[in-house]
Amino acid sequence: MGDACHAMRPYMAAGGAMAIEDAAVLSRCIAGFDDLRTAFSVYEATRIPRVGEVQRISIANSWMHGPTEDVDWFFDYDA
Ligand SMILES: Cc1cc2nc3c(=O)[nH]c(=O)nc-3n(C[C@H](O)[C@H](O)[C@H](O)COP(=O)(O)OP(=O)(O)OC[C@H]3O[C@@H](n4cnc5c(N)ncnc54)[C@H](O)[C@@H]3O)c2cc1C
Repeated sequence: MGDACHAMRPYMAAGGAMAIEDAAVLSRCIAGFDDLRTAFSVYEATRIPRVGEVQRISIANSWMHGPTEDVDWFFDYDA
């Protein structure tokens, strides 16, 4: 998890936030499922869309470049 599996470009200042979210979700998956295979599968399925979108925006360096851009999906994410 964290930078080891999805290092970020710096343009969204989100790499640390993504690592913390990863830890929160992974700990909940491990606590919530009896077998680790399922826990890691759910963790992956939960995190790939979220981190992928943040990586996409970071690579494009487009974060908050528009005056009306909605930022709640990023800051209000409930891990
Ligand atoms: C200048 C700068 C500014 C940043 N600003 C922000 C920001 O404003 N907001 C934000 O969300 N993110 C920011 N980031 C990104 C953020 O710092 C990283 O995404 C985050 O630290 C990744 O955490 P991590 O635990 O995955 O990896 P790391 O923090 O790199 O932790 C990995 C740890 O593993 C240790 N390690 C490595 N190899 C071994 C080994 N073989 N055995 C034992 N230990 C080992 C390392 O020493 C290190 O302590 C910034 C990064 C930089 C460089």
